[in-house]
Amino acid sequence: NQTPLNPAASPATWLGVMGGGQLGRMFVHAAQKMGFKVAVLEPAMDCPAGHAADQLLCAGYTDSDGLNKLASQCVAVTTEFENVSAKSLSYLAEKAFVAPAGECVAIAQDRLEEKRFFVECATISGVFPAAHKEIRTENDLDQISDDLLPGILKTARLGYDGKGQVRVKTREELRNAFAAMNGVVCVLEKMLPLAYEISVLAARGADGKAVVYPIAENVHRDGILFTTMVPGPNIGKEAADKAQAATLAVIEQLGYVGVLCIEFFVLTDGSVVVNEMAPRPHNSGHYTIDACITSQFAQQVRAMARLPLGDVRQHSPAAMLNILGDIWFEAGADDKTTPPREPQWDKVLALPGANLHLYGKDVARRARKMGHITFVAPTMAEAQANLKKACEILG
Ligand code: ADP
Ligand code: MG
Repeated sequence: NQTPLNPAASPATWLGVMGGGQLGRMFVHAAQKMGFKVAVLEPAMDCPAGHAADQLLCAGYTDSDGLNKLASQCVAVTTEFENVSAKSLSYLAEKAFVAPAGECVAIAQDRLEEKRFFVECATISGVFPAAHKEIRTENDLDQISDDLLPGILKTARLGYDGKGQVRVKTREELRNAFAAMNGVVCVLEKMLPLAYEISVLAARGADGKAVVYPIAENVHRDGILFTTMVPGPNIGKEAADKAQAATLAVIEQLGYVGVLCIEFFVLTDGSVVVNEMAPRPHNSGHYTIDACITSQFAQQVRAMARLPLGDVRQHSPAAMLNILGDIWFEAGADDKTTPPREPQWDKVLALPGANLHLYGKDVARRARKMGHITFVAPTMAEAQANLKKACEILG
C-alpha cells in the first residue's frame, strides 16, 4: 500500500511504536507535532516513551494480545530498538504497515548476518567490514588465524553500548573470554587502528527515494557514545563520500523503509571500514533535532506514514553531548551512602546555543543514558567550546 496517511484525519490517525525507551519518546514528540496519535507497546509501565504517548499498551514484545491491539489501532508501526523480535514485526505486518520490515531488522540483530550482508553489498559499496571469524564452539578457536589477534570478541546478538564485548590479546585470553560467554555464538573481530569513528544516518521512503544526512563524527567512552560533532573535525571528503555512498547502497539493497544508521571506522591509513547498523534512529543522529530541517524522528514519521521524506540539510554546526547517570554522582563516591546530586542545569543552559533534552527517567544510574545536550552555533569551534564548558560544569 503506497497511499500516504493523512495526519489530520478525524479521528486522528494512530502510529504505533514497539519499545518505550528514549528513542520512542522522541519519536512520539515528532509524531504528535505532526498531528498523529501514538500508541507505544512496552512491558514496563514506567518508561520514557510511555509518559509521552497517547496510549501505552503494557505488554511483552511477543504478546499476541498486545500485538493485536497495536496492529488494529495503528495504521503503521515502527520499532525503536532492534532487539524486538523480528517475528513480532512480521506478525504486525499482516494487519498494519510496518517500517522497517522484520527481515531488515533481523539482519541488524545478528552481527554475523550483518557482516555477511555488508560483504554482499561491498561489490557495490566498496566498503568491507573488519576481518572476522564466527565462533560457535571451542573448536572454532583452534581454527582462527593469528592475524585476528589482538581482537575483540563480541556476542553475535544482543550487544549494545560496548556490552557483550571483550578485548583479547592472546589465544589464552580469547579462550577465557569465550568460556565466560556461556556458550552463546560470538564473532571475533580483528582490532583495527582507528583514526576516528563516523556514522551515517539515512532514510528511505515507501516510494523508494532515499536521503542521506551529513556525516557525524563520534567519540565513545567505555563503549558508550560520548559526543557527536557535525561537521566532524577530522572527516575528509573522500572518506565521507565513501561512507555515504556505502550507506545508500545498503539501504537500497535492503529495500528498506524508514531511518537507518550505519557506523563506520576510518583507519589510520585513511581507509573506511563498515562496523554495524541500527535499523532505527540513532544516538549519533540526535543532533538532527536541533540542527537539521527534518529531524531523524520526523523523518521516521514521514517514512512510516508513506509521506514524502523531509529536507536533510543541516542549518547549524552542532556538538552533541550524551548525559549519562554518572553526573548525578560524585567521582569516587559510594553511590549507596552518598545521595545523588542534581546537575547544574542552570549553568549549562546559560551557555549559548544549548538545547537540553532529558528523557524523564526518575532514577539516575551510572552509564544509564539520561538525556543529551546539543550545542548549535554559527561555527563548529564555538559549538565545541560550549560543549567543553558544559563538561566542566557537569563534572
Ligand atoms: P556496540 O553494539 O556496543 O555499539 P560496536 O561494535 O559498535 O558495538 O563496538 C563499540 C565500540 O568499540 C566501537 O564504537 C569502537 O570504538 C570499538 N570497536 C569495535 N570494534 C572494533 C574493532 N574491530 N577495532 C577497533 N575498535 C573497535
Ligand atoms: Mg556501535
